[in-house]
Amino acid sequence: KGAVHRICAGQVILDLSSAVKELVENSLDSGATSVEVSLRDHGLDSFLVSDNGSGISPDNFEVLCLKHHTSKLTDFADLQSLTTFGFRGEALSSLCALGELTVETRTKKEAVASHLTFDHSGLLVSQESSARQVGTTVAMRKLFANLPVRSREFTRNIRKEYGKLISLMNAYALIAKGVRLVCTNTTGRNMKSVVLKTNGSGSLKDNIITVFGLSTFNCLQPVTIDVPGGCKVEGFLSKPGQGNGRNLGDRQFFFVNGRPVDMPKVGKLLNELYRGANSKQYPVAILNFDLPTGTCDVNIAPDKRKVFLSDENSILLALRDGFQQVYSLSSG
Ligand code: ADP
Ligand code: MG
Repeated sequence: KGAVHRICAGQVILDLSSAVKELVENSLDSGATSVEVSLRDHGLDSFLVSDNGSGISPDNFEVLCLKHHTSKLTDFADLQSLTTFGFRGEALSSLCALGELTVETRTKKEAVASHLTFDHSGLLVSQESSARQVGTTVAMRKLFANLPVRSREFTRNIRKEYGKLISLMNAYALIAKGVRLVCTNTTGRNMKSVVLKTNGSGSLKDNIITVFGLSTFNCLQPVTIDVPGGCKVEGFLSKPGQGNGRNLGDRQFFFVNGRPVDMPKVGKLLNELYRGANSKQYPVAILNFDLPTGTCDVNIAPDKRKVFLSDENSILLALRDGFQQVYSLSSG
């Protein structure tokens, strides 16, 4: 049973950034206005996500890390509205299977916090009182250490995994409104560096300037596209021929209802459009898909990053038209 659980867990938690993503999503779902991600040795040794959200009530401690335990899915309609991105109750149970998980949490009803440890099958193995403000810290040590092949791969690819994580944190920094975000990495004995820090007070425009700087922002133009089905796409695209060469790197960020996702087909569409004129162009795109309840249908891959829109072809066509208009208007 253990082995099967580990294999399934491996489908939800693919790598460092998907592990951290699950924890950050949980913090955001809990109503946090401050989320701190702390890595040790780029996440190889450990990582933790700390928030000032609702905290977890003691009634939930025993079941917290059991598969399919979730406090979020109350009815099927919720699944479609996607107001919270966690709805399957798999993240914490998967993380338990893949490393050493501890949780420290306190709700506003409790005078003290509780420090909880779980075993690889998600069972609560210890519970002690501790001191903490209202909120939750989930800490993960030794991700993949019990899976020799994955563990070696993780160690070998740590630079890449870390880069992917930073890109994810940038995505949150771009989109999160009213949430203060901090990401630190501690290496060696105690060399702590702040990788990212936002006060979370800004608009998308302010956030772009904070994360990428004014010169990048000046290369962008606003876009709004209404897609059939009630979905609205809003954000920024680079102006043709401006600052959008390779030097800007991989800067395409897509969101559904304010949560980062991968949309490879939309990225491809943009690349083709911009490269039509100049093969060296890699457009910058920061686009949020606003999908109100009961409009466009979305399906999400197990790791919740890849999003599939139902009626995808007509959406892609509408996007192509919209992008084309923005592109030709701004290229004169
Ligand atoms: P899901 O997010 O799909 O519900 P998870 O395994 O990610 O499943 O989390 C299980 C449950 O643990 C959540 O439904 C929530 O009740 C609780 N939880 C996890 N992280 C937090 C957090 N940071 N703050 C408050 N509650 C949390
Ligand atoms: Mg979750």
